[in-house]
Amino acid sequence: MRLPVYLDYAATTPADPRVVAVLNQHLGQDGVFGNPSSTIHAFGRAAARAVETARTHVATLLGADPGEIVWTSGATEANNLALLGVMRAHVRKGRHLITSKTEHKAVLDVCRRLEREGCAITYLDPNPDGSIPLERIAAALRPDTVLVSLMHVNNETGVTQDLAAIGALVRNHGALLHVDASQSAGKLPFDLQTLPVDLLSLSAHKLYGPKGIGALVVRRRPVRVRLEPLLYGGGQERGLRAGTLPVHQIVAMGEACRIARVEMEAEQARIRGLRDRLWQGLTVLGAVALNGDPEQNVAGILNISFAGIAAEALLDALPNIALATGSACNSASHEPSHVLRAMGCDAMRMRGAVRFSLGRFTAVEEIDYVIDAAAAAVIRLRELSPVWETRRGRLKSRAVDWAAP
Ligand SMILES: *Cc1c(COP(=O)(O)O)cnc(C)c1O
Repeated sequence: MRLPVYLDYAATTPADPRVVAVLNQHLGQDGVFGNPSSTIHAFGRAAARAVETARTHVATLLGADPGEIVWTSGATEANNLALLGVMRAHVRKGRHLITSKTEHKAVLDVCRRLEREGCAITYLDPNPDGSIPLERIAAALRPDTVLVSLMHVNNETGVTQDLAAIGALVRNHGALLHVDASQSAGKLPFDLQTLPVDLLSLSAHKLYGPKGIGALVVRRRPVRVRLEPLLYGGGQERGLRAGTLPVHQIVAMGEACRIARVEMEAEQARIRGLRDRLWQGLTVLGAVALNGDPEQNVAGILNISFAGIAAEALLDALPNIALATGSACNSASHEPSHVLRAMGCDAMRMRGAVRFSLGRFTAVEEIDYVIDAAAAAVIRLRELSPVWETRRGRLKSRAVDWAAP
């Protein structure tokens, strides 16, 4: 077993060796390195063909049309393009957008920008289990609502939203639905042929592709989604995203999506088994709470709080295990997670929240190592904790509510 153990797949995944091989074939002099716009010669045409094959792989994974894929630098850019692009293109229709308080910063920070541009944003509260109730979305829809933006799988808790029901509601109202699917693409099966989603953001490095590449799916059916580009230049990607296409990144993302489509089902079943084993192994400690929904979730993410313990202290005690407190973007600032806060977690539960995220290369020996090491550390830290009464093995403070949601 290799140490340290990597259990931070929700922050990024290592590229699959098959993806790395394809990437390497599209970079150097002996590979397909041409500019896909230079179709006047064979180098450019070979590159253009490789890009279109990759586009087909990405589209096939999602049930989209290849012509609906717009390459971006990642999900952050895809979210920016979706929200800014749609709101700026629909000023005459309306200026209202609905999202939730548990979105990624790559949506929430764009919403702040849109507010400065004069848009009205509704930030929905989730249920304590992280789900966004349909009635709350329905109540927030207005005649001037242009766009609803909700993530499929939450990156901190793994909670999934019911896209079919949400999409039907939004479409029926005549608004557009954007979905950040960074944490679900290649993990949960979904089919845009039937799913009423108009725009969908993807990131390659969350599904065993390289960093720095992603895509925005811009649907053409049933309505052709209009959006203003963020970048102007060479007119690539039908004018929606200018810039020379990074062929090596694109083919790598295509290969990652091709592999995901073939292997997703068996892989997710295996990962779910490991995640459940980890949860079973840690709940025997007692006073452990699951942050999220025990049923509606993606296999690879387990967010839990250990009563009486600060997450940072636990991570410090486990130098051989790569874990996250809250989300990676927040952990530098030591701000409590905005996601757990929105779900109504109390301060101690937020402070004690640790995210374990598993993936393709996680082995059962690693999970058993993590259970043993984490259990020993939790017991040791609780002995030092002022809120934990070791003799009775329970919390001193009765004010803390540790009932799982
Ligand atoms: C990782 C992630 C992003 C950002 O993706 P990048 O490709 O790194 O820009 C956005 N949304 C969610 C839900 C993510 O998990």
